[in-house]
Amino acid sequence: MTAPASVRYLSGFTGSNGWLLIGGGLNLLLTDARYRQQAAVEAPGYRVVVASGSLVGALEQELAPEVGRIGFDPGSVSYAVWQQLTQAPSVEWVAAGDVVTAIRSAKDSVEITAIRSALILAESVLVDVVNEIREGMTELQIAARLDYECRTRGASAMAFDTIVAAGANGALPHARPGDSQVRAGDLLVVDFGCVVDGYCSDITRAVVVGSDVDDEWLEIHAAVDEARAAAIASISPGLAATDVDRVARECLTERGLGEYFSHSLGHGVGIEVHESPRLSATSKDVLAAGMVVTVEPGVYLTGRGGLRLEDMVLVTERGGERLNGLETAILTSGGAA
Ligand code: ZN
Ligand code: ZN
Repeated sequence: MTAPASVRYLSGFTGSNGWLLIGGGLNLLLTDARYRQQAAVEAPGYRVVVASGSLVGALEQELAPEVGRIGFDPGSVSYAVWQQLTQAPSVEWVAAGDVVTAIRSAKDSVEITAIRSALILAESVLVDVVNEIREGMTELQIAARLDYECRTRGASAMAFDTIVAAGANGALPHARPGDSQVRAGDLLVVDFGCVVDGYCSDITRAVVVGSDVDDEWLEIHAAVDEARAAAIASISPGLAATDVDRVARECLTERGLGEYFSHSLGHGVGIEVHESPRLSATSKDVLAAGMVVTVEPGVYLTGRGGLRLEDMVLVTERGGERLNGLETAILTSGGAA
């Protein structure tokens, strides 16, 4: 097992260089000397092997003389790592499929508590920073305030690069914040999340600078919000992920906005901000109790702007439980300067 998020999930080890070998009476964590102490503390269930050279060399040494077939997750092995693996001629590598990613998609109560904490923190930061937004601030300054407040209030990291996109920039679903100044009346897409106890949050809201939103965007907001609510209401264990995506897409299509919803509806969130399952038109995933997914419909008008609303939802036996406490209305900044 070489994917850092799965290594962490199974062992607790959070370093950047670690492989797990499980089975045959062995639980090995292979890493390098930088992580000698950390690995022993974080992964007490594993015997830590500190490699002086390559991890694959250390692995061969550990297993010698009896080295046989070892299954690996082909989805997390890069070509460079594959070249390392095949340097061990005595090992027969068998692509074993990605079992751990599937197991990771259903969260236990400890994981759900961490995700809730990360979301509560992000929402409280969002409310406070929105209050501070004034005409003349740049997208980058607003993004930096969000990041700073998350970190100082206890997040260990941001879940991904914070998106603050004003006006026409909002038409790019993954816009990068720039140095353009926001003006009164600008609609902002604010999409960010943070990491608490190793787990991510992910939330998007629409924010208006000042208080006046034009009627067209109010209508778009109502349509996106309806699509969001309908998709969440449809969630239940056993449902195909494609069906949830379809519910939201049909809502927007009925309002003549389907063609402007240019991405998939959502994704699983956990140790990684984007993980299994995928809520898209082509997903093969099926919802199961314990999964935490985002529901994030949006409408993007090229050259004019965008509006996305993103909630996090826990799949329970009784249906989808919305984890957000924050309303989905367009948030109003502290006012024009
Ligand atoms: Zn997001
Ligand atoms: Zn998301």
